[in-house]
Amino acid sequence: MAENFAYLLPMVLTLFGVAFLVVARFGNRAALFWGAGYLCAAIGFLAPLLQAVAPVFVVAMTADAAFLCAFLLYGHALVTHFDAPRLVAARLAMAALAYAGIGYAVLAAESLRFELFISDVACCALLLVAMASSWRRSSSWIDRALFGAVGFVVLETSVRTVIFFIMAGTLAMDEFIGSSYAFVMQITATIGALLTALTALASVALRIVEGHRKAAEEDPLTGLLNRRGFEQFIGQNARTAKGEAAIIVADIDWFKSINDRFGHAAGDEAIREVAALLRTLSWPGVAVARFGGEEFIAHLPNCRLQDAHTLANTVRIALSERDLSGIGIDHSITASFGVAVTAAGDHSIHDAISRADRLLYLAKSNGRNRVVSSVAEGSPQAGPKLFVV
Ligand code: GH3
Ligand code: MG
Ligand code: MG
Repeated sequence: MAENFAYLLPMVLTLFGVAFLVVARFGNRAALFWGAGYLCAAIGFLAPLLQAVAPVFVVAMTADAAFLCAFLLYGHALVTHFDAPRLVAARLAMAALAYAGIGYAVLAAESLRFELFISDVACCALLLVAMASSWRRSSSWIDRALFGAVGFVVLETSVRTVIFFIMAGTLAMDEFIGSSYAFVMQITATIGALLTALTALASVALRIVEGHRKAAEEDPLTGLLNRRGFEQFIGQNARTAKGEAAIIVADIDWFKSINDRFGHAAGDEAIREVAALLRTLSWPGVAVARFGGEEFIAHLPNCRLQDAHTLANTVRIALSERDLSGIGIDHSITASFGVAVTAAGDHSIHDAISRADRLLYLAKSNGRNRVVSSVAEGSPQAGPKLFVV
């Protein structure tokens, strides 16, 4: 029975190792470390097969090296996944110290009891250090579940280690394979490996999906939302929004001539500068996006027209006063703004966007470097008010 398990667990570990390595090909480095860790653990559990051809101390030292590597790699996968402090030197030192202790237990003391004790304590400690480093960075439920699974492995290993240490007495080194300790260890290690692998795989997969979703909705030049991200964001938030929302559209003035005079790279930097200023508007619930080449849009829920107008004007002034010599542009640049609010008769937010666009056009034709807004038709504050700054 125990010997059947001896093959099952390395097979399960190898399958997970390969699965992680496949997932790592999608660009996830944590998956690479999980995969390598699972393969090392598989080697650790296969090491007893060497007993037929190698002395027992070789088997023990090989298995323990493989387990220490596996737990170093699991820890590295955790800190990589959560982008936490890596603490590589500390974890390597712990593993080296443990291996020296194991060497003493196996080669000098010939004590299976101490060998397993040091190995298990070191593996737990390696995971605990990585968990402590990453803990604060876990936010999603799946990340918490991953911590739960890793916590289970630490708890299960510690309890088993202590019980074995107290009860093992003088089990000889070569009696390990057939021992009930080895049997219990195979079962609990299988459960721990399954729980950890499934939660880690789910967590890594969600990270990859989230990364792709973000990339699809983000403008790579400025880090603002792109048009798709903007539509998605306001689509999701429209359901919860109550009061009127304001739309600010902005377009850099004479941008073609900036490109022509200072080059496309300087033009790109100028777009980034404008984006950085517009980002100052992005408090929670606000969507700020680069809508196209040098055009931007902001959606401000629960914002009155006059307030949105003031905000747009603040950005306009800040841009016109910005020193761009650092990016190779020796004069200030300006932008024009159109500001509108949603109105009761609107079919969708696109009605307000169209009004803001028309007002932007008016700002351009009235001389540029200005904000134009008007009270939307049909709104309670109705009236043909036109603010121009
Ligand atoms: P206006 O004041 O009327 O807005 O004039 P403009 O020159 O800004 O307007 P126009 O639409 O004629 O030119 C926009 C220019 O923006 C043309 C295009 O080459 C440039 N552009 C669009 N996307 C990018 C980009 O990603 N980087 C750079 N550097 N330039 C871009
Ligand atoms: Mg322009
Ligand atoms: Mg334009």
